[in-house]
Amino acid sequence: MLLADKICIITGAASERGIGRATARLFAAQGGRVIILDLDGDAAAAAARDLGEGHRGYACDVADKTACEAATKRVVDEFGRVDALVNNAGITQPVKTLEIDAASYDRILDVNLRGTLYMSQAALPSMKAQRAGSIVCISSVSAQRGGGIFGGPHYSAAKAGVLGLAKAMAREFGPDNIRVNSVTPGLIQTDITAGKLDDAMREKILEGIPMRRLGDAQDVARACLFLASDLASYTTGAVIDVNGGMLIH
Ligand code: NAD
Repeated sequence: MLLADKICIITGAASERGIGRATARLFAAQGGRVIILDLDGDAAAAAARDLGEGHRGYACDVADKTACEAATKRVVDEFGRVDALVNNAGITQPVKTLEIDAASYDRILDVNLRGTLYMSQAALPSMKAQRAGSIVCISSVSAQRGGGIFGGPHYSAAKAGVLGLAKAMAREFGPDNIRVNSVTPGLIQTDITAGKLDDAMREKILEGIPMRRLGDAQDVARACLFLASDLASYTTGAVIDVNGGMLIH
C-alpha cells in the first residue's frame, strides 16, 4: 500500500466522473485516509462514504480562506496531521481574451489559483510540524501551450500561476521535507469536458495526440498517487505531464 495510514486531503473530489474523485478512489485503495473537500458538503460526505469506512467529506470553498482553515483544522483535530494535499478544485470558462470581464477573471483566478494558495497555506503548518508532507497541484496543459481546448486565456493564466506558485513553495518548503509538485493534464474526459465535444471536433483533437485517445481521470490519479507517495521521495518542484503526448517539450 503506497499511502498506508496517510491523511490525504483532496479538493474538488465530489464530482462523480472527475479527476479528484478518481484520485480519492485510488488513494483510498492504497490505504490512504481521504478527506474530500468540495462546495457541497452533502455531496462531499456522500463521495467520502462511497470510498468506504473512515473517510470524510466536508464543505469547503477553496477561494474562502476562512473555510480552508476551518476544514483543515477539522482534519488536524480528528486525525492529528495532514500528510498529503491534492489541490484539484478548479473551474474553466471557454471565452476569448476580449470577452473576459472582471467577474469572470476573478472567478477563474480565485478558484484555480487563490484556492491553491489558501489550501496550501492551511495545510503547510501541520506538514512543517511533522517535517513531512506532499502537495500536488493540478495545473493544465493549457498553462504550457497557451490554451487547451476549453479554457480561456484567464484559465491558462491561472493554471500557469499554479505552476509558479508550486515551484516557489517547493523551494521554500524543501528544507522542511515538504515536496510540492504539479500535474499538467491534457484533455481528460470528465464533467468539465462532457457534452462539449462533437465527433468532428474529437477526431481533430485526436490527430494532435500521439497516443490517439483522450485521457481519463485515472490517468491523472496515478500521477497524483506517485507524487503523494514516497515513490516520489526526491521529487519536488516538478511538473508531470499527463497528456498522451499532446505537448512534448
Ligand atoms: P470536475 O468539474 O469534474 O471537478 C471539479 C470539482 O471542483 C467539482 O467537484 C466542483 O464542485 C469542485 N469545485 C469547483 N469550485 C470549487 C471551489 N470553489 N471549492 C471547492 N471545490 C470546488 O472537473 P475535472 O475535470 O475533474 O477537473 C479537476 C481539475 O483538473 C481542475 O483543476 C481542472 O482545471 C483540471 N484539469 C482538467 C482537465 C480536463 O480535461 N478535464 C484538463 C486539465 C486540467
